[in-house]
Amino acid sequence: MSKYIKGYSDDGYIFKICFNENEHIGYMQTGLNHIYKQDGEIRLYTYDGYIIMPDCAGELFEEFNENDVLAIDDRGIVSTLYSADSDDNAIVLTMQCNSNCIMCPCSENSRRYANKVSPEYVKEVLRYIPEWAKYITITGGEPTLLRDDFFEIMEHIKETRKETHFQLLTNGRAFGDYSFAKHFAECLPVSIELGIPLYGYNEETHDKITQTKGSFKQAVIGIHNLLHYNIDVEIRIVLTRQNIDYVEKIAAYIAKYLCGVRCVNLMGLELMGNAAKNMADVWLPYEEAAEKSEKAIRKLVNCGIDVQLYNFPLCAVKREYWDICSKSISDYKIRYDDVCSECKVREICGGIFDSTKRMAKITGNPIRD
Ligand code: SF4
Ligand code: SF4
Repeated sequence: MSKYIKGYSDDGYIFKICFNENEHIGYMQTGLNHIYKQDGEIRLYTYDGYIIMPDCAGELFEEFNENDVLAIDDRGIVSTLYSADSDDNAIVLTMQCNSNCIMCPCSENSRRYANKVSPEYVKEVLRYIPEWAKYITITGGEPTLLRDDFFEIMEHIKETRKETHFQLLTNGRAFGDYSFAKHFAECLPVSIELGIPLYGYNEETHDKITQTKGSFKQAVIGIHNLLHYNIDVEIRIVLTRQNIDYVEKIAAYIAKYLCGVRCVNLMGLELMGNAAKNMADVWLPYEEAAEKSEKAIRKLVNCGIDVQLYNFPLCAVKREYWDICSKSISDYKIRYDDVCSECKVREICGGIFDSTKRMAKITGNPIRD
């Protein structure tokens, strides 16, 4: 969620919302920026003193919660860095990526030219996030492109976050370099799992989708290196028009060569960025994706590998597979159709991606019995 504070023209800050005096004193003592109502003013308290905020900043107290972490930039745009009532919080290290997947939800421009954040920035964001936070995802683009800074961030997480489970979303290629995987194992956070995509069952089928020669080999060697260090790996297969006809072969490859992974997630498409641009080539209706994945699911399950379906509305999936459907779409991207109000499973359905719903004109198909 983002918001515009009209009339704000100061520096950018990370901050929290403070609702009472005790909290205010606590934040002052620990040096956490916060906005607080005092003496009829809304003040943004910072290390250097306080800034009087425009009156419309009062709306932040209604729209955000205690322990949310926000950032305001020098134009007055407020964005959410951490939402305390969500299990779906992410820190993006960069939007840059060394692959160029045909169905990437990011745009080609962002993958080429985006900035990389500094370790200092990530440490500062983490300082604001409560230590009891359950889950945080570290993502990109490709987070390992930060190289030494990536290790510094991992080291910091290892030292400071004992209660939070981290998920690192990576294309896995950097871990194909044994010394990189070894370095990572040495600064491994207490609880972390890596989500790595596999789009094909050999170099030809995978690299065609990543549009990057050598990416399959690097990712597979990377997974072996990570498993060697007993690091949890989840494999993600994004289902597209390009790979749906051989998804069973991908499952067979995983069962044969990568059976040490913790689970495999089969993912429905999010039509943004490259995926939206290449929609004619990649789009695969969720019903077809789910149905054509059934043999692959059974193969993996029969080999003792956990499988989940991500991003699928329940009405696109046969009932016998509902128990592996995960509510995986980020809160702010979920949409339901008008007819969903008539659906008996609305509460347990993860909904539809906003962008996919618009691009592919998806409607709900209410379950009535
Ligand atoms: S899907 Fe992931 S690996 Fe592929 S280009 Fe996008 S960010 Fe990179
Ligand atoms: S009709 Fe709507 S709520 Fe029901 S399963 Fe489909 S998308 Fe989900």
